[in-house]
Amino acid sequence: MLNIDLHCHSDASDGMLPPDALVARAAASGVDVLALTDHDEVAGIAAAQAAAEAAAITLIPGVEISVTWEGVTVHVVGLRIDPAHAELAAGLASIRQGRMERARRMGEDLARAGIAGAFAGAHAHATNKQMVGRTHFARWLVEQGHARDLRTAFRHFLTRGNPGYVEHEWASLENAVGWIRASGGTAVLAHPGRYPFGARDTHRLLDAFRALGGDGIEVITGSHHPSEYGKWADLARAFGLKASRGTDFHAPGESVELGRVPALPHFCRPVWDGWPELDAYLSLARAQGF
Ligand code: AMP
Ligand code: MN
Ligand code: MN
Ligand code: MN
Repeated sequence: MLNIDLHCHSDASDGMLPPDALVARAAASGVDVLALTDHDEVAGIAAAQAAAEAAAITLIPGVEISVTWEGVTVHVVGLRIDPAHAELAAGLASIRQGRMERARRMGEDLARAGIAGAFAGAHAHATNKQMVGRTHFARWLVEQGHARDLRTAFRHFLTRGNPGYVEHEWASLENAVGWIRASGGTAVLAHPGRYPFGARDTHRLLDAFRALGGDGIEVITGSHHPSEYGKWADLARAFGLKASRGTDFHAPGESVELGRVPALPHFCRPVWDGWPELDAYLSLARAQGF
């Protein structure tokens, strides 16, 4: 069976591995099809594509777009996007600019709480200087001894009600889905179990997402507890959405390993149904008599 991992990060956003090392690691972990989905950024895709050719695995160009929906941050993954598409590229550039302004305000907020130098510290942790995110702040806070690990850094800082958290308006859901589709891609709602919504708002989000042209939701993700998989598989089916699978890998030891999450439940309709990239695997399987 194919190992398909449609969500991970390189150091073009808040992952720790350069795109080529990330792809090599995926291949070594048994991944056949990998989507690189950096936050608001496509700069890693060319290097990932070259590494995928060398490792004889399939690279799906992707992105994870930061969105504000009804005052809450949600993430939309774009798969099979064209990273060179002008409208998508301009939209992502505008998000990155807002992200930089947010990072400065986060630094100021931490300074008011008595923690100086956070912006410079987070900036130093970021390889892509246009993409300073909360993970970079969290890694710096751990390095400086303000938190014992990443989880604790996010519990004591950087989250609503804590120092280092600032409100920020990301892209609209409509724009994010629109840019992805304009570039030829498929829009997938990332880790739906991570949002602070009850059933009613979850249903409204799924309806809104689908009405705007969203195609699927992540059912199996490193961000969902295994006890949640069934619920999201059922919801995908009930709302006419396909299902995706991805680890949301960021760094060795920091998150679940590339490719190492369960397969989709059998009744799910995979987002990759009908993708021409998978034809080679299907004809190979046929030739082998499967
Ligand atoms: P940002 O887009 O800069 O707000 O950062 C979001 C990223 O922070 C997510 O993609 C995760 O990588 C990371 N993150 C958020 N919450 C947590 C958490 N509780 N523990 C570890 N990482 C987290
Ligand atoms: Mn991240
Ligand atoms: Mn995410
Ligand atoms: Mn992610």
